[in-house]
Amino acid sequence: MLFRTFGKLAWKVSALGFGCMRLPTNDGIPMSGDINEGEALRMIRYAVDQGVNYVDTAYPYHGGNGEIVVGKALKDGYRDKVKLATKSPVWLITQPDDFDRYLNEQLKKLQTDHLDFYLFHALNKQRWEQFVRRYSLLDRAESAIRDGKICHIGFSFHDKYETFQEIINGYDGWSLCQIKYNYMDTEDQAGTAGLKLAAAKGLPVVVMEPLLGGRLANPPNSIREIFDGFGTKRSPSEWALQWVWNHPEVSVVLSGMSSMAQVEENLHFANRSAIDSLGAEELKWIGRVREKFQERILVPCTKCGYCLPCPSGVNIPVNFELYNDGFIHNDPKTARVLYSRFVSEGERAGACTQCRTCEEKCPQKIIVSEWMPNVHAVLGEGQSFPKHQSQFGGEDPFQRAPGRPGRPASPSWAGHETPPCDQGGDSPLEPSRAVPRGKPRGISTARQK
Ligand code: SF4
Ligand code: SF4
Repeated sequence: MLFRTFGKLAWKVSALGFGCMRLPTNDGIPMSGDINEGEALRMIRYAVDQGVNYVDTAYPYHGGNGEIVVGKALKDGYRDKVKLATKSPVWLITQPDDFDRYLNEQLKKLQTDHLDFYLFHALNKQRWEQFVRRYSLLDRAESAIRDGKICHIGFSFHDKYETFQEIINGYDGWSLCQIKYNYMDTEDQAGTAGLKLAAAKGLPVVVMEPLLGGRLANPPNSIREIFDGFGTKRSPSEWALQWVWNHPEVSVVLSGMSSMAQVEENLHFANRSAIDSLGAEELKWIGRVREKFQERILVPCTKCGYCLPCPSGVNIPVNFELYNDGFIHNDPKTARVLYSRFVSEGERAGACTQCRTCEEKCPQKIIVSEWMPNVHAVLGEGQSFPKHQSQFGGEDPFQRAPGRPGRPASPSWAGHETPPCDQGGDSPLEPSRAVPRGKPRGISTARQK
């Protein structure tokens, strides 16, 4: 195993960390509470035997059972071989004492007397202000350090870069941060700017979602062909992982592994990783892949949020993001799971009343009221993406239109479906990409007058 520096902490971390959000399940449902315990233990211990020394879990993983299984996996001497990270479920805290109550429960589930790293889970502006700040949870965490229950305090993050700046600059005691980072998300959430800011402050950066929830491991054929055309032969997963490891600011890359085969594959990739290992040509090649993915964006929503609030409560940017993701990655199945599990009914596209209040506020001139029924048809009712995807006999109709990617003037719902599901990743609901700005495209970007 190759090891990397962990910010200012005097400890070397394995290039690969074990993310325990997607352990194998008996019912085959990703992230369900019915963990295949035997296999999960075998995978975690095998990875540790091969040198993985960072194990990451969280209170809600696998319906609350994730920490219990990790605790079992780290028995028989394995606990001493790793640094263990778990996360405080800040959104469940309704009074300061809850922090300690959850921490004690987690220690018990994990069968340990201390956590090496305790992170505030999935911080965004609201959680930072209304939970961490409001209940003085940083004081609680410092008190837990004094009690020997926690060694270091950190946070995982899902929000805009400006919020990342606010949080990282808002407390001097952070010892690490965990961000989503992959070659599609350089400008999204913390992004490259956040990575560099954290590193400049000496904070170790733990990277989650290097494969974008597995979607970069299973790209559509048009993307796979670009990789195949390059002289260096790597699988799409390895390209994505090596791209992350290439960054000197990255300490450890978490992969949420669901099978022994994935563990073995990732260990193999980690052992070939290095900082600055990708040449200029290779980086250019990945840039081409990024562009190709971006060409597949159906709705040019930049997630600016200017359209909000919607009087009916629809979370417009999240709906567009899931819809785009389902198409971009040829993975409507995952988009539907996220839509049903993580977007409340009132926030879904199906709640749109076509009032059009939002449309005049949208700088991209997206005709939201036209899109929303389509978004709900695909994500909420299981209908297919527009027919044009199969109409041309290819997975990417935009390739077929000479000149500029064009879409039919109106969608038809007799189309196709190709749903690989996935591996890896951490946070299921912050699916987001840098969306290219510029000329809107698509059926409803601008209402025809
Ligand atoms: S058109 Fe739909 S999404 Fe837009 S403000 Fe009205 S109800 Fe909300
Ligand atoms: S729909 Fe328009 S205003 Fe709303 S988030 Fe997207 S780009 Fe911004």
